[in-house]
Amino acid sequence: MSLKGYGKQLRIDLGEKQSKEEQLDEGLMRNYLGGVGYGSRVLFSELDEKTDPLGPENKLLFATGLLTGNNMPGGGSVEICFKSPLTGGWGESRSGGNFGPDLRKTGYDYVIFEGKSPEPVYIVLTDEGLEFKPAKNLLGKTIEEKTDAIREEMKDGKISIMCIGPGGENLVPYSTIMCDGRAAGRCGAGAVMGSKNLLAFVVKGNQELKVADKEKFRAAIRKAMKEVRKNPDSAEFKKHGTTGDIPGCDSMGDWPTKNWQSNSWGKGEILYGHFFENNLVRPNDCYTGCPVGCGRIIKVEDGKFKTPEHEGGEYESISAFTAFLLNEDMDCAVHCTYLCNQLGIDTISAGGTIAFAIECFENGLIDKNKTEGIELKWGDPDILPELVKKIANREGIGDLLAKGVRRAAEIIGGNAMDYAIHGKGLEAPGHDPRSGKALGVTYGTASRGMCHIHPLEGMLYDSGKVDFGLKPYGLQDPETIDRWDEKGKGKAVKILQDACILPDVLGNCKFMMYCGMTLDHFAEIISGATGWDMTVEELLKAGERIANLQKLFNLREGFGINEDQLPARMRQVPVFGTYSSEERCGINDYEMMLQEYYEARGWDEEGNIPKEKLKELGLE
Ligand code: SF4
Repeated sequence: MSLKGYGKQLRIDLGEKQSKEEQLDEGLMRNYLGGVGYGSRVLFSELDEKTDPLGPENKLLFATGLLTGNNMPGGGSVEICFKSPLTGGWGESRSGGNFGPDLRKTGYDYVIFEGKSPEPVYIVLTDEGLEFKPAKNLLGKTIEEKTDAIREEMKDGKISIMCIGPGGENLVPYSTIMCDGRAAGRCGAGAVMGSKNLLAFVVKGNQELKVADKEKFRAAIRKAMKEVRKNPDSAEFKKHGTTGDIPGCDSMGDWPTKNWQSNSWGKGEILYGHFFENNLVRPNDCYTGCPVGCGRIIKVEDGKFKTPEHEGGEYESISAFTAFLLNEDMDCAVHCTYLCNQLGIDTISAGGTIAFAIECFENGLIDKNKTEGIELKWGDPDILPELVKKIANREGIGDLLAKGVRRAAEIIGGNAMDYAIHGKGLEAPGHDPRSGKALGVTYGTASRGMCHIHPLEGMLYDSGKVDFGLKPYGLQDPETIDRWDEKGKGKAVKILQDACILPDVLGNCKFMMYCGMTLDHFAEIISGATGWDMTVEELLKAGERIANLQKLFNLREGFGINEDQLPARMRQVPVFGTYSSEERCGINDYEMMLQEYYEARGWDEEGNIPKEKLKELGLE
């Protein structure tokens, strides 16, 4: 009999064309809950430091959570867990959309892909069972071409599809798995899928999700939904989407510009104005019934960057193709992010790597002989679409840039590493810790590297004064702190991380936490779903356990204190822009913040986890 609130697990051996259904263990579920929590438990146990991220021994785990589906506000998450081909460490990537809920309706919460198929395949999982479908005909096709072909072949418009593009087929270490215009974008999940010759995963299910106490569960969801609906940020997100944050971030010094030479540009308002007037078609929910609905349908009507209507235009993607590159042509940015999504490469890593390449070119580290004659220049929109295509297809200079900034800098040599802005090998996203120092600690210590999801709680706490309902559980009131102070930030980040990892553990969109959903809501909903008597304290302990397990994963890969550092440029006062003479911007004592964080975590000065801590968390 399956656990209340949960489904089952399916293991699919692609090499042997076999599958095995597995029941879930209650003790494990209570300790790790699901999503990236359960994913870290599985991958820590089943992989080791010798695992080649692109070898058949790596695993690709599609994990939902207790809050996926079930008409939950923001319940459209699926988490993909794997060893990252980009960083060599812990890899996870989330996508919204209806895939996660549809996967759960097949009766499975977790699907683990193992081995490598001898030929390209796509997998179909429905209530009727599992099918391995030949997919040679899909090779080289874009995301839209692949999904259209699969829908046509299956004669079913209602299936959910996650698939890779040419980027994943070509094993670009920052390639994506795409779902309804949304991306599981970071750390290279697409390359792991491509290395297994798995081009798409299709699901369709009709099974009801069973919970322990329907009434209690529904009442808890209604309560959370009410809170999210009345939060003023929900309406703002709905009206302007995430890209609407650009003017505010620019003026706060939270908009990395010209490969992080500055934290502001002063053009955010004009650029967003163009986007709102010319590119935006309408708002869009990635997951049916989302009360926030941050998604956008966008287009470029005409001109050399003409682009059809599509889901896209998020803050991070647009920032990576405007401010990162000093590109003032918003139509070009929309077009490039569309190309990235169609070709299946991560917009943030692609934009960050191109910015790095332009700076290398400017400083004579690479020249036209290496770029097929292309002059790499700041603010030149005409070179960008071509560079994106070259990266996805690994052609010419694109092959070097496809490796990401860290590996490309190692190959280029000289002082190229000075221009490689990353954490643990993951290219930095579009928020800047020179706007608030907690973000520096979250960037440095985030398990998968410098990503745009986990570290954001640092920024929202410092600059946005969001407390996530954590004051009763030990978080200092953000209203009492100064965003530029450094003391106290390491301690705050510990509890922020333990709490804000939970949406990715529970299969819930993190924006719900930004818009009023708290751990108290989570605890009530989980209690209704499982019949457990869940408390916020237990949830925080689970968050801490999972953060420590991901740290163990990285320690096993040889990630020491050096991998918890920030690039020098990110700590310095900006070279130009509004904050160039604001000394408080610079991070003066990152080491102090890091040690404060380690101490709050109960780790030693090198960031190792003592035995007593492991024992306390049940990780010994
Ligand atoms: S807030 Fe945005 S990303 Fe989150 S579920 Fe809603 S539409 Fe999707």
